[in-house]
Amino acid sequence: MTDFLIPTPVDAEIDHLRHGIAGDVYLPGDEGYDEARQAWNLASDQRPSVLVMAESAVDVVKAVRFARAQGMRVAPQGTGHGSGSVEALDGAMLIKTSRMRRVDIYPSTRTARAEAGAEWQDVTVPAAEHGLAALAGSSADVGVVGYTLGGGMGWLARRHGLASESVTAVEIVTPDGRLVRADSETEPDLLWAVRGAGGQVGIVTAIEFTLYPVRELYAGVLFFPAERASEVLHAWREWTDTVPDELTSLGRLMNIPPIEQAPEFLRGRSFVVIEAAYLGDEFEGAELIRPLRALGPEIDTFAMIPAPALQQLHMDPDEPMPGAGDGMLLDDLTPAAIEALVAVVGPGTGSPLLSVEVRHCGGAMAGGSGDGAQARMDAGFMAFGVGLAATPEMEDAVASAVRVLKDTLAPWKASHSYYNLAEMPADASEVLPADAYRRLRQVKAKYDPDEMIITAHPVRPAR
Ligand SMILES: Cc1cc2nc3c(=O)[nH]c(=O)nc-3n(C[C@H](O)[C@H](O)[C@H](O)COP(=O)(O)OP(=O)(O)OC[C@H]3O[C@@H](n4cnc5c(N)ncnc54)[C@H](O)[C@@H]3O)c2cc1C
Repeated sequence: MTDFLIPTPVDAEIDHLRHGIAGDVYLPGDEGYDEARQAWNLASDQRPSVLVMAESAVDVVKAVRFARAQGMRVAPQGTGHGSGSVEALDGAMLIKTSRMRRVDIYPSTRTARAEAGAEWQDVTVPAAEHGLAALAGSSADVGVVGYTLGGGMGWLARRHGLASESVTAVEIVTPDGRLVRADSETEPDLLWAVRGAGGQVGIVTAIEFTLYPVRELYAGVLFFPAERASEVLHAWREWTDTVPDELTSLGRLMNIPPIEQAPEFLRGRSFVVIEAAYLGDEFEGAELIRPLRALGPEIDTFAMIPAPALQQLHMDPDEPMPGAGDGMLLDDLTPAAIEALVAVVGPGTGSPLLSVEVRHCGGAMAGGSGDGAQARMDAGFMAFGVGLAATPEMEDAVASAVRVLKDTLAPWKASHSYYNLAEMPADASEVLPADAYRRLRQVKAKYDPDEMIITAHPVRPAR
């Protein structure tokens, strides 16, 4: 890596940047710096040397050119949901795109264009007015760009694949300060990289992607007492062998804290739950989940729901939270894997994890029809554990419980992890298929040979 010194831009240069952009520039000590540097994940204490709140693609270009002239590295951020796995930003510029939230829906081509600060709810709600759905994830306020660049595994994934495979074009500022539009004809390497390898090659200012004709789905959650964890997870796992690609589901252990943000009827309780969404009608959906209903859940929320309501299904927090977690892909979830999982995080273990989920993968995710860094995901399942990290002690306890979870499931580990839900620091080689990793090193060498861009899961350019 080129030596990026820890630079201290002089006042005149900073003033030049401040006056040259529509957005705002903050330095440590400035009024507003502490508020502006806050990420969605409140456990992240990011302290960039320069923070730019961009209002437009032109602002991003100017900020990147400024940083290059100063010999400064640059980290892009939309919401900060993924801030936990990014290295410390001392000496670097943080470019926040959260003010850039314009979204255009094009019903005739079934596509959307979202600016880099858009959250999923900015897309799913207007798309639904046209009977269209995006490949959004479990949470309404996760950023469209960060999520999609890292793959994007949502409720339609087994039918339509990872969100990154539906990207048709990006507008991106390269580390040398050029704003380019990359699609399959122009700069195809850039397009390939943003389709699953994260923000390794530049700062995306807008993204275009395919929408799918979906008005309603049959979806819901079955809650069972945590004591039934083993029985319910075994039944769910066997059932996943029988379901069509139109059905995406997960099995989950939940320890809900006695906090106000949790719905009252769940507060302070532990459950084993099954969540599922079926792209089809109520009759077929009810038939499909009948074997799970027959287990006798304590609470059953299955019903036809409009597509944007999928983002409430997983009960993700809708306010910034301090959290720590990590995930892994599994080749399979065997009966022995379920027993091992329940033994370390199930009832009576006192686990500090709020949630441990196992998502059913396969279907279109394994498809291999597209051309992106995560075009093929061979794993059968994805496991993810997360807990509250409001204090350093809590963070340590959660991190250690997550490590135990991952060690326990190691015998079933797939060849690589899932980019988006690998939330502990990990190199790109750990979160991408080996062939994609090799190509990414070449693309990195072409666009960012000096490693100016700071990202989760960094990659070294090929030499
Ligand atoms: C509550 C919650 C629910 C989640 N649910 C899912 C889910 O269902 N499925 C799933 O796949 N993942 C899920 N995730 C993981 C999530 O997709 C990643 O954390 C993702 O990186 C978040 O993107 P963001 O833009 O919101 O976060 P940010 O922290 O803003 O961005 C994360 C990273 O993306 C890159 N990035 C962001 N903006 C740009 C840009 N403009 N240009 C270049 N690179 C950029 C950067 O490397 C940045 O560090 C969830 C995370 C949380 C916290």
